[in-house]
Amino acid sequence: MNIELLRDVVVMVAGKNAGQIADSLFDKKNVNEFIIAKKLGLTINQARNILYKLSDEGLVSFIRKKDRKKGWYTYFWTFNTDKALVLLQKHVLKEIGQLEHQLKSREQKRFYICPSCHTEVTEETALLHNFICSECGEVYQLNDNKKAITEVNSSMNKLKRQLEEINKEIGIIDEKKMKKIESDRKKIEKEKMEKRRKAQLERNKAKKKLMKHKVKKIKKTKKFLKHKKIKKKFIKKPVKKTARKKKHSKKKR
Ligand SMILES: [Zn+2]
Repeated sequence: MNIELLRDVVVMVAGKNAGQIADSLFDKKNVNEFIIAKKLGLTINQARNILYKLSDEGLVSFIRKKDRKKGWYTYFWTFNTDKALVLLQKHVLKEIGQLEHQLKSREQKRFYICPSCHTEVTEETALLHNFICSECGEVYQLNDNKKAITEVNSSMNKLKRQLEEINKEIGIIDEKKMKKIESDRKKIEKEKMEKRRKAQLERNKAKKKLMKHKVKKIKKTKKFLKHKKIKKKFIKKPVKKTARKKKHSKKKR
């Protein structure tokens, strides 16, 4: 990650003196605001002002913790690199657009310059003032657009290189995000499978238990029936009675 890019965004949002905040927050999480202020040689309020400005644009986020003894809050800051890069990308694209517009107008239009006070005007303005500088009365001269065109081109190339770098960094972050999403998805899928497997296991266990219970019941019933049968058999067999009867009848005879 090119820290220059982050410094550029911070400066763009919070001013020249804020750039160093990017260094204090770079590649870290939840940085104590007192450490940030100390590193930048600022008072805590000055540091907070910068951080709030960055926070308004979504470049930084914070968590806060209450000091139990003193009763005040301390803020801990984290740089949102992805958001910062997107904001910078937007800004650079806008600047490139403006330069392209300038280039077009340099290539198509004529500009005049006052040799004395070096103010440049469009042809329409020069015509309106009869080619006489309204500031000093000197006669306007046709300005050479070549120099301006070279300057605009050079600025544009610089911005385009920066944009390339920004896009590359955004690509890396996006790829990381996609990988994280994919790994999270796999993790959830795995957890679901595990849950399903456990539920199936529970179901099987319950089934087994039920079967065992049923078998036990059947066995019990069978045993009971067997017992009953024996009893019945036992009761039905009037062995002694017939014997006695026979005996009795024998006696009678
Ligand atoms: Zn002039």
